[in-house]
Amino acid sequence: MKNNSILRLAIQKKGRLSEDSLRLIKECGIKFSNGTGKLKSRAGNFPIEFLYLRDDDIPDYVADGVADIGIVGENVALEKGKNIDHIRKLGFSRCRLSLAVPKEVEYTGIEYFQNASIATSYPKILRRYLDENQVTAEIHEISGSVEIAPSIGLARGICDIVSSGSTLMSNGLKEVDVIMHSEAIIIGNQNLDDEKKSILDQLLFRIESVQKGKNSKYILLNAPNEKIEEIAALLPGMRSPTVVPLAEKGWSSIHSVINEDDFWQVIENLKKAGAEGILVVPIEKMIF
Ligand code: ATP
Ligand code: MG
Repeated sequence: MKNNSILRLAIQKKGRLSEDSLRLIKECGIKFSNGTGKLKSRAGNFPIEFLYLRDDDIPDYVADGVADIGIVGENVALEKGKNIDHIRKLGFSRCRLSLAVPKEVEYTGIEYFQNASIATSYPKILRRYLDENQVTAEIHEISGSVEIAPSIGLARGICDIVSSGSTLMSNGLKEVDVIMHSEAIIIGNQNLDDEKKSILDQLLFRIESVQKGKNSKYILLNAPNEKIEEIAALLPGMRSPTVVPLAEKGWSSIHSVINEDDFWQVIENLKKAGAEGILVVPIEKMIF
């Protein structure tokens, strides 16, 4: 690999994606300083450079090759992005892009919007959704504070990002239809050269290890030897569980890895099978 090759990653300068994007990079063992007000910085121990930008601008910069890859919400990638690759979902900044109407409206279906006006910052995604549902509506594109549009008479409803719904509620609106679910993703330029691809692969490998670690827990427990087989069957682990004899005769310590999603069910079953002194510890990274 040429040693001057460097991957340029665009991340949101300030907003809901910034903190988690930077945390992910740090968890990948990449060291950098991001002094406030900086627009660019370089990692000290990995061939990567960061550009700090507004999220709306990131898909265009990636498509143009100013940045090689970027982290944005899928909602923004779909709205702004043409000619970019959607490389990897990152599992944070989860939200929905939804239609909402004043809460007193008796909403019976998407026909409510027929010939109505809808305010949104996502005209392309909304237009596609309305077309798919054979609804003709006027789309008012506004860049912020979309949720006040109905109360000032600008639109009959809105299409905007929702997570808890509290912003809608405090503006007298209710969510009536989900257009898409979104989370942060890595997007990439479609013409990366081999050196940049190779750096990207290293980065993705690290991200995967961090993500797998987060979805798994290391579990240690004690069990009487005659129960080992039954308990081992409940703990598939990475290969199979580790069994270590305890100082007390007839007892062993069993170690394994379990998936976060099955966690409580597995614990319940282990207790029933006779496990004692169960310890569960977080895993920082998992490499296969
Ligand atoms: P910028 O100044 O960079 O243009 P912005 O105001 O457009 O920022 P943010 O509000 O920081 O954007 O949101 C960035 C992204 O985070 C959104 O595009 C969406 O994917 C996600 N997001 C927005 N609101 C929420 C939320 N309440 N919960 C989780 N994720 C959200
Ligand atoms: Mg923005």
